[in-house]
This record gives sequence, structure tokens and C-alpha cells, in this order.
Amino acid sequence: MLFLYNTATRHKDEFKPQNEHQVTMYCCGPTVYNYAHIGNLRTYIFEDLLSRTIRLRYPLKHVMNVTDVGHLVSDADDGEDKMEVATAREGKSAWDIAKFYETKFWQDYDALHCTRPTIISRATQHIPEMIALVKTLEEKGYTYRTSDGIYYDTSKFARYDALVGHARISGLQGGARVEMSDEKRNPTDFALWKFSPKDKKRQMEWDSPWGVGFPGWHIECSAMAMKYLGHTLDIHCGGIDHVTIHHTNEIAQSEAATGEKYVNYWVHGEFLILRSGKMSKSGGTFVTLDVLKEKGYEPLAYRYLCLGAHYRTQLEFSYESMDSAAKSLKNLRALCVQAQQAAQGQAQETEKSRAWKQKFVAAMEDDLNAPKALAVTWEAVRSAELTPAEKLDFLQFADTILALDLFAKSEPAAQQLPAEVTALLEERARARAAKDWKKSDELRDAIAQAGYLVKDTPQGQQTEKK
Ligand code: AMP
Ligand code: ZN
Repeated sequence: MLFLYNTATRHKDEFKPQNEHQVTMYCCGPTVYNYAHIGNLRTYIFEDLLSRTIRLRYPLKHVMNVTDVGHLVSDADDGEDKMEVATAREGKSAWDIAKFYETKFWQDYDALHCTRPTIISRATQHIPEMIALVKTLEEKGYTYRTSDGIYYDTSKFARYDALVGHARISGLQGGARVEMSDEKRNPTDFALWKFSPKDKKRQMEWDSPWGVGFPGWHIECSAMAMKYLGHTLDIHCGGIDHVTIHHTNEIAQSEAATGEKYVNYWVHGEFLILRSGKMSKSGGTFVTLDVLKEKGYEPLAYRYLCLGAHYRTQLEFSYESMDSAAKSLKNLRALCVQAQQAAQGQAQETEKSRAWKQKFVAAMEDDLNAPKALAVTWEAVRSAELTPAEKLDFLQFADTILALDLFAKSEPAAQQLPAEVTALLEERARARAAKDWKKSDELRDAIAQAGYLVKDTPQGQQTEKK
């Protein structure tokens, strides 16, 4: 049995799909106006664990959107569109910005071994569906017009506080987070369709029954999720920050339009934080996967770090914890490779290996307890009870969920290095230990002449063929 913590019921519920032949899941995707930071990527790693765990039992249809228009800088429906802000910053067209950051996003996503969604839906390619949804809401009397757009009247939807609870919505009423514009009827009302400014032509704008403009961010997700997955989704995920506004608004729009329940299980991942506070794209505290790679970490070391914390607990990022994740991954792989070699590559499934696999699955099916599944993996690989062939059977299975490349030989380059280069590297390591930087640089050149590039990383020197 699979149990998931459901934000809507506030407890761990047994997961029962509507149709066992196809589980439906929608995950809020990236807004492609900048690089994804490692906090965003933590959320996609958690969603990947969820997707891999579901697939152990059921076929899965997984939809993820790409927000390439309409996500405003402020949650209060004012401020500029993030895409247009990026245009001003980078001097490129909004379309080029979207293309560039989306490509980059999938590179990071793949490098972290996140499974690609079944369907990737771009907001700009679904404008007619969004307009149709707004029209339905208008016909049903949920909308009103202001000078800058068509708004949703949240007072007309009785269950508006369903996801977050009344107390938190009352907090919003007090104006804690959402500023009240003059024309809004209620502080929680939000834009479904925004008009283009009269004095300025936007790069991304479309005709609509209400005038030229662009869709609101919330309507994008509702329209795309329901287009591909039907009126009621089994699972909807995202980061915890989306609960109060984005997902609350998605429920309001979708349920008002269809009269049916929108989502059966809401699953939210907690934040990655920095010791100094929130990871922020504007505050200079913005760590990307490229930054980690430049510092010599492989992307999967970051995946290992994320797996070590339960998805519903905050994870504080630090380079010390990255070092320790990289080291643990290296040690775990060494043990896995040892087992593989001892078994001569021949896995054997037995009752014992099956029992260990069940232990692993039980951890994952208990609300995705990846730290426990990881602990089971360490225990199995060190266990005297299992033969190497049984270990191999277990580990091959565990890696279909962990996706850590458990059988990668951690330093393949080092093993094939010519003796001359190995000697130069050793000499350079000694020079660096003695802080003789001049000699270290000379040796780097000598190594380059021998055909290898050397990089200094927290794990020591790493080489790469030129
Ligand atoms: P965005 O591209 O800003 O729309 O965010 C993409 C995803 O990352 C959403 O599911 C957010 O909830 C999530 N997210 C944003 N910041 C963080 C963070 N610091 N830690 C974990 N997830 C985050
Ligand atoms: Zn969304």
C-alpha cells in the first residue's frame, strides 16, 4: 500500500487511484525566465521519487507545464511579467529567453536523473484552452472586469479555504501578503486574464473576447492539467510555497468551472534553505547546478543530498553537507561495484533479496521515506546475510528508484591515466599541500601537455582528457 501525506486532509492517506491502469499526476513546472536554482531542483527530485515509486505499482501519466508567460513578479497581480523583466535584463526577445532557459532547465533535470514527464505543456501553446476556461467561469458568474483585467471573485466560491484552512486565508484577508488594489472586490481575488498595457506593446500577447492581453499564471495550470488529465486528477504536486495562493486558486477556478473535485491528493515538497535564509533569485543567494558542477560536484551528489532528507522537512544547504553527500555517494558506489565484481555481474533473486527489496519499497511507500530507503541500501550492501549475487539483485532494483548510478566507478578517468600523468598529479598534489602555487601551475601545464585537463575540486584533483 502506498501512503502519501495529503495537504488537503492534513494526514497520510492511503493512495487509491481512480483508475489502476493510469494514475494521473500534474506537477507545476518552471517559470523559464532565469536558471532554476537548486531549491527548485529539490522539488523536481522529490517529484521524481514520487513518480518512480508510483510506477512500481501503476502506469503513470505525468504532466508538467512550462510557464513561459504570465507569471508576475508579485503574487498580487501587479508588477511585471517575469518573462518581460528578463527581456529587459538580457536584451533578448521573450521567446528566446523562454527557449534558452527551458533548454537549460531540461539539462539540469536530466543530469539529476529526474524522469521526463509524459507530457510537457507550454503555456504559450495553450492560450485557447485558457480562454475557454475563463469563458466558462464568466458564464457561471465567477468573474468581474477591472481596468486591467478579468478577475475571479473568490467570495463566490465557498470552499476557497479548503486547502489551507480558514485561519490562513483570514490572514490573507488582513492583507498580510496580497495587496488590495482599488478595483479588487476581495483581497484574495486574482487575475484570470490581464490586459496588455495601453501605452506599451507586449512581446507576448493574444486576442481574447475581453481584449488583447495574456493569461494569469493560475489559469494556465488549471487549463493544461484538465486538458490532459481530465476534471479530477489523482495527484497534484509542487513546492510548499504554492499551497496558499497558486494551488488554492487552481482549486477555485477548476471546481467552479466543472462542479467536480479537482485533485484527490495534494503533495507538497518543503523548501531547500540557506543558512542565511531563503534561496532567492534576486538576493544574490542563488545557487545553480552549474555552480555546484564548477565547484567539482557531480549532479548526482546533489541528488544524494536531497534523498538524505525527507521531502516534507526543510533542508538546509551547505557546502559541508555537499562534501559529505559526495563522499557518501562515492563510498556507496565503491561497495556496489565490489558486490558487482564479486558476483561477476550475475544478480540472483532469492527470497532473501526479495525481502530486502520489500523493506526498501515499504520505506518509499511510506510517504516517500527516501532517507530510510537509503539506510536500507547501506545496510544491504554491508550485510553479511546476503551473497554478492543477492546484493547485486537488491542494488540493481534500489537504483531504479534512487537513480544514483550506483555501479559507476567513481573515478574512471583516474584508473586509465598514463603513469606519467599519475606521477605529475601526485607531484602537483604535494606542491599544493605545500602551498607552492607556482609549481602547481607549472605542473598543470605539464599535465595539459600530456593531454589532460586538471580541475581542483573539494574532492581533490580531477582530470579530464583534452
Ligand atoms: P518556479 O520556477 O519559481 O515557478 O518554481 C518551480 C518549483 O520550485 C515550484 O514547485 C516551487 O514551489 C519550487 N521552489 C521554489 N523555491 C524553492 C526552494 N527554495 N526549495 C524547494 N522548492 C522550491
Ligand atoms: Zn502550477
